[in-house]
This record gives sequence, structure tokens and C-alpha cells, in this order.
Amino acid sequence: MKIYIEKGCWGCSLCSVTCPSVFKMDDAEEHAVVHHQPEADNEVLVTQAIEECPAHAINTW
Ligand code: SF4
Repeated sequence: MKIYIEKGCWGCSLCSVTCPSVFKMDDAEEHAVVHHQPEADNEVLVTQAIEECPAHAINTW
């Protein structure tokens, strides 16, 4: 699975709390960024983050 954050991110930080090994907030704390692509051992948490994102801003490609 490879993921990216869309422009519609609200900056709520939920994804970075759910799976900090993949998501973090940018320096301004305004948007999430993917700092490591998912690996097999964290895909469950990444899937949870995708499903729970209130802005539906995490997508796969
Ligand atoms: S959960 Fe969604 S809206 Fe919240 S910071 Fe992550 S990508 Fe942005």
C-alpha cells in the first residue's frame, strides 16, 4: 500500500496519533504529511487512519 494526503486535510492530527510511524504533522501543524510509506507491520493502523480521517483526505495510489 502506498498513500498520500490530499489538500483537503483539516489538520486534526488524528492520523499522526493513530500511526506516528507513517504520519506526522508539518512544521506549521496545519496539515498531515506521510513521512514513511506503510509497511506490512503497520498497515492495520494505516487502514484505521484512512477510515477515521474526518476529511477523507488519506488516499492510496
Ligand atoms: S486525520 Fe485526516 S484531516 Fe486529520 S490530520 Fe490526518 S489527514 Fe488531516
